[in-house]
Amino acid sequence: MSETFTSVPQEEAGFRERTRLSFELDADICVIGAGLAGLSIALEAARLGASVAVLEGRHIGWNASGNQLGTVMPGFALPLTELIERIGYEDARELWTLSKEGAEFVRANATEENMPGITPSDGVLEVSNVDTGDRLISRLQMLHEDFDTDVEGWQVDRVRDVLKTPRYFHGIYYPRAFQIDGRKYVHGLAALAKRAGARIFEDTPVVSIDSSGVRKRIVTPSARLRASHIVLAGNIHLGAPLRRLSETLLPVWRYAAVTEPLGERLAEIITFRGSVTDSDGIDHFRIVDGDRLMWASPETTWDARPHRFASAIARRIATIFPQLGKVAISDVFGGAVGLTVHGMPQIGQLRRGLWVASGFGRQGLNTSAMAGQLIARSILWGDERWRLFSPFELVWAGGATGRVAGHLIGMWGRGSSAAAGALARYREGARVRERVREARLAEANRQAGTRPPPRRRPPSAPPPVRPQPPAPGEARESGPVVPSQESEKLRDGSV
Ligand SMILES: Cc1cc2nc3c(=O)[nH]c(=O)nc-3n(C[C@H](O)[C@H](O)[C@H](O)COP(=O)(O)OP(=O)(O)OC[C@H]3O[C@@H](n4cnc5c(N)ncnc54)[C@H](O)[C@@H]3O)c2cc1C
Repeated sequence: MSETFTSVPQEEAGFRERTRLSFELDADICVIGAGLAGLSIALEAARLGASVAVLEGRHIGWNASGNQLGTVMPGFALPLTELIERIGYEDARELWTLSKEGAEFVRANATEENMPGITPSDGVLEVSNVDTGDRLISRLQMLHEDFDTDVEGWQVDRVRDVLKTPRYFHGIYYPRAFQIDGRKYVHGLAALAKRAGARIFEDTPVVSIDSSGVRKRIVTPSARLRASHIVLAGNIHLGAPLRRLSETLLPVWRYAAVTEPLGERLAEIITFRGSVTDSDGIDHFRIVDGDRLMWASPETTWDARPHRFASAIARRIATIFPQLGKVAISDVFGGAVGLTVHGMPQIGQLRRGLWVASGFGRQGLNTSAMAGQLIARSILWGDERWRLFSPFELVWAGGATGRVAGHLIGMWGRGSSAAAGALARYREGARVRERVREARLAEANRQAGTRPPPRRRPPSAPPPVRPQPPAPGEARESGPVVPSQESEKLRDGSV
């Protein structure tokens, strides 16, 4: 039987025997954290010839990295226009290119040969909750012409042809974005890193570091390690080794579910086979295992049991695709992502030999891969491109108050985009109703042999301008003359 998204083997889910660090060790690079970030760095550095030790407090992929949806797109959480405003066009372009290289790093690793059952497939559709044709066109132009990214703009009809819901309007299709079995990828990455020579120790929390000397010291409850470089890739759970760093992240727990098989009705309602994300970052889903839906949506700023969100996700699916009826949920999972105040990941060197790779937020696959490449290549080759991240400093996320504020802002953001979506759908409905009314009226007039009354002016439209007789001696302007209401009525014969 082929392995599927819903059947992560037990040993991958953390039930296998783990190697704990219980002896003194020397390495070139010590990476703290075996999530996507830590393992990408370990893999790249080991491939470049460094001796690498990864210390993981729990098990590989324990948090977000082992519980994500596997959608790989270019870019960052920070919208491109804001990125350009912040650092200028040239640097934004370079960062964007790096983010694409990060995605290609994932693609190159996630082959069936390297990671059996990873099932890569192309194509991601970003849909809009509101009617934003104009904004879409300028974004498409920017992505395609200025940022050299393959994109297609989809009109509303095309989006609704593949996703049968009135909730979504236009879309941007990324043919080179792709998806993989996200929960398998982190374990595949660990296997590749080990094969390249990295050593991974689980159940080995780092409790303190001394990064002052050339050879740095790393302390765990049962052993000590010395290394020339330490990479902090512990995300929001880093804790004691550098608490101030954890405090620059706003933790957000995101939850996802996989439904029971939904049968043929799913294929009638969703014919798009890649991942779908909405532009407000609320819903993210795709079909897995032929006829199940995998769907991420709810978020909290506190750690809750994912199973509590099964019915919320089922309700959300019913809101977007009511034709599916009641869906049963077979699995719920989730993890904490670390959001930064500025929306960009934290990648760089804090002091000589002390590196940070965190804050990857909801888009961690391409960005953590990019961090892996940048940090490993800087340590081993002297590549200084990580400095492009220097404008994005470590900003305190506001502690407990920041979490409450973050939650309220998140709720407000989701609420206001839901309201904007409802308004867009209302306007669309009103336009359709108006067209139907006009068609009926025209038909009634045709049958009665009468002419239709003049079109009613929408209340918001400015009153028509009456042509003023030219003042004596003043020349009349050329160009179309706007008819007065009277002349229109007379021509219509409706008075
Ligand atoms: C439901 C969900 C869906 C998602 N879907 C996508 C998606 O489709 N595409 C995408 O690009 N991104 C997605 N993401 C985001 C992505 O998963 C994260 O951005 C990414 O996993 C972050 O990786 P990380 O290595 O920084 O952190 P983590 O996964 O948190 O890994 C950090 C590791 O460090 C360890 N650690 C911490 N402190 C210590 C210490 N002191 N000593 C030893 N070990 C320590 C932790 O135990 C942990 O295992 C999703 C996230 C969630 C929750």
